[in-house]
Amino acid sequence: MKTQDKRIISVATTGSYPRKEDNPNVPITPEEIARDIYQCYLAGAAVAHIHVREPDGTPSMETKYFSEITKLVRQHEDCDIILNFTTSGGVRWSEEQRLDPAVQLRPEMASFDCGSMNWRHSTVFMNQPAFLERLAGTLQELNIKPEIEIFNSGMLSEARYYIKKGVLGTPAHFQLCLGVPGGADATVKELLHLRELLPEGSTWSAFGVGRNAMSILYAAIALGGHIRVGMEDNIKLTRDKLADSNAQLVARAKQALELYGCQAATPEEARQILGIHR
Ligand code: ZN
Repeated sequence: MKTQDKRIISVATTGSYPRKEDNPNVPITPEEIARDIYQCYLAGAAVAHIHVREPDGTPSMETKYFSEITKLVRQHEDCDIILNFTTSGGVRWSEEQRLDPAVQLRPEMASFDCGSMNWRHSTVFMNQPAFLERLAGTLQELNIKPEIEIFNSGMLSEARYYIKKGVLGTPAHFQLCLGVPGGADATVKELLHLRELLPEGSTWSAFGVGRNAMSILYAAIALGGHIRVGMEDNIKLTRDKLADSNAQLVARAKQALELYGCQAATPEEARQILGIHR
């Protein structure tokens, strides 16, 4: 099978927003998150995008929780899933708090939110240029692969600037995040538009938040992209049914890939695709 037929399934198990009240199966504690990551690995995920919470479910950027999850996942000797830490953890953390888990624990990947935006009609998701340069420099120094999260085409323009300046390395990897209120809608038209604007030679993945998740998943597969699923983005399996688990969402994504004629990449294959060398 050719490399382009191997597609990376990323799972975002938790995020900063969904709560047990929304879906009792959202993993919140480090034990629950680690258990879900392992089950998702067994179901076909190659990358785990990690957010953490306080015991009461509120968003957190405490390094100790990231550390606990890392330790619990690595207790499974067969599990070489790539860990991808959030560097935002919601919208209210200081630069130091955002950087600390990645700096202390050096995961293979970390998110890089390439611009500021109005967030869910409620606040500003702040990513000042000085912070982005600092974050990119730190990730380069620690050999952590940035996953450049793109919420609208302006952020791609920023990414091209940072690549040209050498702040971001190439080939770059992008996560096209569609359907967050304030950003690009989760439509195939937006996906096509953003994909056309990607720097040449980049790898990319996409997901849609909410009801159009499956449109984006199938379109990304058809367009040659990688895919992301998980309760950070969708707590439902279908429009009227809650997901039983993150692994259920991964299993469906893997099945969609296989029905199309592709295969889910293993973590080792994902490292090759993304150029991760440690
Ligand atoms: Zn996230």
